[in-house]
Amino acid sequence: MSVLVVGSTALDSIKTPYRENPRLLGGSASHAAVAASFFAPVKLVGIVGADFPKRYLQLYRRHGIDLEGLQVAAGKTFHWAGEYEVNMNNRRTLKTELGVFERFTPDLPHAYRRTPFVLLANIAPALQHHVLDQMTRPKFVVADTMDLWLNIARADLLKLLRRIDAVVLNDSEARQLTKEDNIIAATRKIHRLGPKYVIVKKGEHGAILSSPGGMFIAPAFPLNKVVDPTGAGDSFVGGLIGYLAGRKGPLETNLKRGMIYGTIVASFCCEGFGLNRTTKLTRAAIDQRVNQLQALTRI
Ligand code: AMP
Repeated sequence: MSVLVVGSTALDSIKTPYRENPRLLGGSASHAAVAASFFAPVKLVGIVGADFPKRYLQLYRRHGIDLEGLQVAAGKTFHWAGEYEVNMNNRRTLKTELGVFERFTPDLPHAYRRTPFVLLANIAPALQHHVLDQMTRPKFVVADTMDLWLNIARADLLKLLRRIDAVVLNDSEARQLTKEDNIIAATRKIHRLGPKYVIVKKGEHGAILSSPGGMFIAPAFPLNKVVDPTGAGDSFVGGLIGYLAGRKGPLETNLKRGMIYGTIVASFCCEGFGLNRTTKLTRAAIDQRVNQLQALTRI
């Protein structure tokens, strides 16, 4: 089954202590769509400006991503710039230039409206609502978010939580949302806000799934060198929903397996700037690393 991904489609300028790379293909939807494409057909919803390089469109196409829902508008593509410290868990946003995003209304092509799996990747919650309003009975909806929306669009975000099956956030966002320091207690509070499935990402320490069947923990794949972690969270959730869409069988089991596949795609994402490493991946390389992670957790 296929996956609809809506989110930001961006040009990212990324600076680490070792290198600087301007105007790479980025955005929450780009990372998530490419990650999902290894497991299921993907339909992309986003907006880019006239300055968006043709080679990036070709890159989406090479991954079989359906671009009917990608609007190309006069003006500039959303541009984000960020800088990492030596400890790459610490990142500073240098620039957020909205460009064509400022007047983005994600109107879905007719053929997109019955897509069974929906990923509302990180964008303004009002836009995530607008996409959901147009969908006909999706089978599974997962939403991602960021601290910005907790700060400036909390009411919209709370309303969204009542409309989705699963939410994905990082540990600091879970604390900010619930005002609860303990992550397990925070997870319980988030269930009460709506979602049946709550996934909390803990960066290099893995991720936790809380569901009616109990908890599941997925360790991160240990990397000895992180080149650029931008988009790791988006790759995680993209890999997860792609895997779910591509599988038959019990949802909760597939969700757990999907957490592992998402973790592995995210680990590859960190090994290159922007999407450089992820776009060179193969399903066989993903499966091989899944096996390595399994071996690392088995006694
Ligand atoms: P992550 O590393 O998972 O936090 O995701 C980084 C990606 O999020 C980058 O590719 C950015 O283009 C994108 N991004 C940054 N700020 C925003 C924003 N305000 N809305 C949507 N996407 C954003």
